[in-house]
Amino acid sequence: MNLPSEFLKELKTVLGQDAEKYKEMFDQPAFRGISVNRLKITPERLLPLLPFAAWQSPFYKDGYYIPADTEGIGAYPLHHAGAFYVQEPSAASAVSLLDVQKGEKILDLCAAPGGKSSQIASLLGGTGLIWSNEVVKNRSRILLSNFERMGISAGVVSSCRPEKLCSRLEGYFDKVLVDAPCSGEGMFRKNHDAVAEWSLEHVTACANRQISILQSAAAALREGGVLVYSTCTFSYQENEGVVQRLLEACPELEPYDMEEPFGRKTRFSNAVRITPMEGGEGHFAARFRKKGNNGSAKPSGQHYPKMNKDIMKLTEKFLDDIFLVRPELIPVVRGDKLCLVPDNLPDTDGLNVIRSGVLAGVIVKNRIEPEHALFTSSSPSALRRVLALSADDKRTDEFLSGNEIDCDGESGYTGVAVEGMITGFGKCSGGRLKNKYPKGLRR
Ligand code: SAM
Repeated sequence: MNLPSEFLKELKTVLGQDAEKYKEMFDQPAFRGISVNRLKITPERLLPLLPFAAWQSPFYKDGYYIPADTEGIGAYPLHHAGAFYVQEPSAASAVSLLDVQKGEKILDLCAAPGGKSSQIASLLGGTGLIWSNEVVKNRSRILLSNFERMGISAGVVSSCRPEKLCSRLEGYFDKVLVDAPCSGEGMFRKNHDAVAEWSLEHVTACANRQISILQSAAAALREGGVLVYSTCTFSYQENEGVVQRLLEACPELEPYDMEEPFGRKTRFSNAVRITPMEGGEGHFAARFRKKGNNGSAKPSGQHYPKMNKDIMKLTEKFLDDIFLVRPELIPVVRGDKLCLVPDNLPDTDGLNVIRSGVLAGVIVKNRIEPEHALFTSSSPSALRRVLALSADDKRTDEFLSGNEIDCDGESGYTGVAVEGMITGFGKCSGGRLKNKYPKGLRR
C-alpha cells in the first residue's frame, strides 16, 4: 500500500524513527477488541462463555483483545444480549482517562455509534447520568439502538449541535468527553480505503472543527469538572496543536496530568498517544480540568405532563404485570408513548432529545404494548416472568431469528434471558412464546 508522501512526512514529525516501524506494520492485521458491559455481566462471568479467545488490554480495565480473524461477532447471542461492545482496544483509552465515578453526570458530545458511551454507562452502573449526543441524525439512531442493546436506562440520547446543547446546559456536567471527528489516520491499517480520503486540507479542517466543539464542551462543564479530548488520528496539528490552541482559547481550562500506564509520551504531560507499536490502531487523548470548584449548575428541571387518572391506572397495572421490582425511574407519558425517565433531568425542550430514559410501551386503546427496551434494560430478578436460556440452547437461535419457541411458564409478557441477560421478550401462552424480538435486530 502506497501511503501519501505528505502523510508520511507528517508522521515522521510525530513518531520520529518509529514512523519506519509503522510502515513495516502497515500490512499486518489490525488489532481488535471488546469492552465488557457491566450493566449486563462481569468480565469474570463473560470470559469463559465467549466462543473466541480474549486477553486483557492495557488501555481499559474491562477491555480485551480478541483474535484478528474472529468472524460474525454481531451474530453471537452474547452480543445480542449486550454483554460486550466490539471496540478497537486503544479506542477504549479515552474513558480510562475520564476516570468515571458512580453518580456523576457525564456528557459524551460526539457519541455515535456509542462505544465510549457504553463504557461510561457500564462504569456508572445505573447511577448518575450519561447524556450521549450525536449531531448527525442517522448516526444518532444507531447510537440509540446500541443504548437499547446495552440496557442503558439512566441516560439521554440527543442529536443537537454542540454549541446549542452546551450553552443550554452550561456548567451542568461533572465530566465531558469529546471524541472528536478527525482525519482518522488510526483507521488506515483497518480500512485501506480511508487513506484515499486523507489530505492536509482535511487535517486542517478537522483541527478547526475540533477547537470549536471543545470550546462548546468547556461551557457544559462545571467548575472543577474534567474534560477529555480524544481522536483516532496521529496528526500533530489535530492533537497537540488543538491542545495548545484550546488552552489559549479557554483560560478557564488547565492541563490535568495523568498517570495512566499506557501509550507513548507526548510533549504534554496531560496527553497520551497510542500507535500500533503500543498495541492499538491509533488514539490520542488529552485531559483538562475546569478551574474553580463551584459544584454543578442546576438548570431548570423538566416539566412532565400530568398523567390523567385513567392513564395512570393503566400504567400502574402495566408495570405491576411486568415487574416484581420496579426500576427507580419516573413514568412519563408523551403522546401515545410511556417512558421511564431518570429523576432530576434538566429541561430538554428544543435540544432534539430522541430518548430520555427508557421507552417502556405504547398506549393502544385501553392497554399498553410493551417495548423491547423496557426488557433489555431490566435484570431477570426484577421481572415477573423470565424464560432462561443458555447461549447454545436451540431456542436461543430460534428466538434471535424471530421464530416462536417453547415456553412452559405462566402466560403473559416474558423476558428472554440468555446466560442471565435479558435480550428481548415475547408473549407466552399455551406453552409457546410469541416472538417480539424487533425485526431489524433479527439474525
Ligand atoms: N465516540 C464514538 C464512539 O466511541 O463510538 C465515536 C465518535 S466519532 C470519532 C466522531 C463523531 O462526531 C461522529 O459520529 C460524527 O458524526 C460526529 N461529528 C461530526 N461532525 C460533528 C460536529 N461538527 N460536531 C459534533 N460532532 C460531530
